[in-house]
Amino acid sequence: ATPTSIMVGTGRAAELGILFRKGEALQTLRSADIVALDKTGTLTMGQPELTDLVVAPGFDEAEILKLVASLEQHSEHPIAEAIVRHANTRSIGLMTAADFDADPGFGVTGVVDGRKVLVGADRALQRAGVEIASFADQALGLAQLGKSPLFAALDGQLAAIIAVADPIKPTSRAAIERLHSLGLRVAMITGDNEKTAHAVARQLGIDEVVAEVLPSGKVDAIKALRGAGRRLAFVGDGINDAPALAEADVGIAVGTGTDIAIESADVVLMSGDLRAVGDAIAVSKATLRNIK
Ligand code: ADP
Ligand code: MG
Repeated sequence: ATPTSIMVGTGRAAELGILFRKGEALQTLRSADIVALDKTGTLTMGQPELTDLVVAPGFDEAEILKLVASLEQHSEHPIAEAIVRHANTRSIGLMTAADFDADPGFGVTGVVDGRKVLVGADRALQRAGVEIASFADQALGLAQLGKSPLFAALDGQLAAIIAVADPIKPTSRAAIERLHSLGLRVAMITGDNEKTAHAVARQLGIDEVVAEVLPSGKVDAIKALRGAGRRLAFVGDGINDAPALAEADVGIAVGTGTDIAIESADVVLMSGDLRAVGDAIAVSKATLRNIK
């Protein structure tokens, strides 16, 4: 492409709310074969709500919520914020947790009111030796609805199953359809539960899913998805997405995302509307067509 055609393409993209930080990306994007997207905050709003709380026999719901929310108020995870918000709406007074520890991709632990509290994904409880089989049916049912099941343990005993749901952005489905009409495959990468991820992917018409990816594993997930000879564009918003944005052939950051994601990207979308991903690819194709 000539410098002039790149300038014209970059200008056209800017009108559509797409910032090409590198002219090279404008040339690479047209030959993408697959677009992989982060789920939370990219395809979804990134604002989960607590939807379900079921306590195990012998446990008191309000007490469990108090202990769990008291622990989660020390975490910055969107899931933690959803739990604390829910406790607040029920006017449940919170306590300070001691020995708070967050394990990315697993969950949180600490001591509240002298009780050892653990909240997190199934793998976090399994790792701690807490039996969760009695909630397996509930967990599956919740996940099939696209909700993320979490578990809480008190002093090593399973106490509750909690579900949070993160609404899909209203424009995400149309954005995926647009990518399909441009002839691309679409994949989703997430740290969330396998069943939940598949339920969300089905609602969106997504072709491939890589779930239960630890924050440190996104780069490997991208390499595996790309396989041999495929060009991959990755779309993400979070701190965890920065290495993946750098690894992808074209990294596309959602402008509503974190500064680190934006700095690691080749392309930045001004809004959270993912239909701009298809626009960016279309501009890339048109730019290169004009100079032939
Ligand atoms: P994602 O943002 O895609 O959900 P994360 O790696 O941040 O990925 O989290 C993966 C999973 O770890 C979550 O779906 C949840 O099950 C668990 N988890 C992480 N942090 C917390 C927390 N503060 N409270 C409860 N569960 C958590
Ligand atoms: Mg995200």
